[in-house]
Amino acid sequence: MVTTSSGEISRRKFLAAGGITAATAFLAPTALFAQSDDVLVPGALKEAATAKVTVQALRRNISVLLGAGGNIAVLSGADGKLLVDAEIVTAREKVSAALASINSDPITQLINTHWHFDHTGGNEWLHDAGANILAQENTRTHLLKVTRVEGWNHTFPASPSGAIPSTVFKEDHTLHANRTTLILKHYSPAHTDSDISVHFVEADVFHTGDTFWNGYYPFIDYSTGGSIDGMIRATEANLGKVTDNMIVIPGHGPVGDKSRLAFYRDLLVGTREKVADLKKQGKNLEEIVAAKPTAATNAEWGSGFRSPKDFIGDVFQGV
Ligand SMILES: [Zn+2]
Repeated sequence: MVTTSSGEISRRKFLAAGGITAATAFLAPTALFAQSDDVLVPGALKEAATAKVTVQALRRNISVLLGAGGNIAVLSGADGKLLVDAEIVTAREKVSAALASINSDPITQLINTHWHFDHTGGNEWLHDAGANILAQENTRTHLLKVTRVEGWNHTFPASPSGAIPSTVFKEDHTLHANRTTLILKHYSPAHTDSDISVHFVEADVFHTGDTFWNGYYPFIDYSTGGSIDGMIRATEANLGKVTDNMIVIPGHGPVGDKSRLAFYRDLLVGTREKVADLKKQGKNLEEIVAAKPTAATNAEWGSGFRSPKDFIGDVFQGV
């Protein structure tokens, strides 16, 4: 399995950014306290401007772009390039260069797996470059208005009109492009309420959006419909779909397969059980974090977007 370190949004850098803010906190402690928590999104915007974006050829005419934000699937051919997801807005230059390195096909279509900024940030410039944007209807709803994500301590403004999907669907949508059938399916609320999977049928390549994070603890966005139980349901749905030969593109992390999906399911289910059990015993979040319910996987999974403590907090909230 190909691995990449370029996809890591450095938690150390986020912490460093928070540290700088904290160092100035003596000026106005109360006002700056709330601000100092809003480091993840600004940190990601900064990181994506310089993070490497690598291209990995998968199967047939499909490649994946791995960078600081969400993984982008690219289907090329006579109909022009079709992209699944649009990265963080500041990654534009790196994404443009990576797309140009595949071939000179124009960009004609974009599908968003969900509404988050690290998957829709490039919507506006990709639309300007010629892409029609397609998504589940809740992606459009969230992008149209000011949306607060408590888990990131960040409030997103409404997106500019060029970034808004022009075609939306509710549950399922099938399209044909570049001699490929794409089946889009809405998950019941999982990571958000807008998550979809994209199956490139002939190539048997499956993009899970952020229902699957490969090698990083996932973020669960309770503010827009996500939950740990929803994440587990979505993962069971992914496992019900996966074949032995399927190439699985996660929302974040290196390209995976059936065995990685199964490991991830066990991780989610096991953590949920342990955290629920400790919570039932009357332990608070600090005590549960101190009990290290994810000790076995922290070295591999805990150094990305979400620390072990963040992940345990996300699980705690939903049990
Ligand atoms: Zn997301």
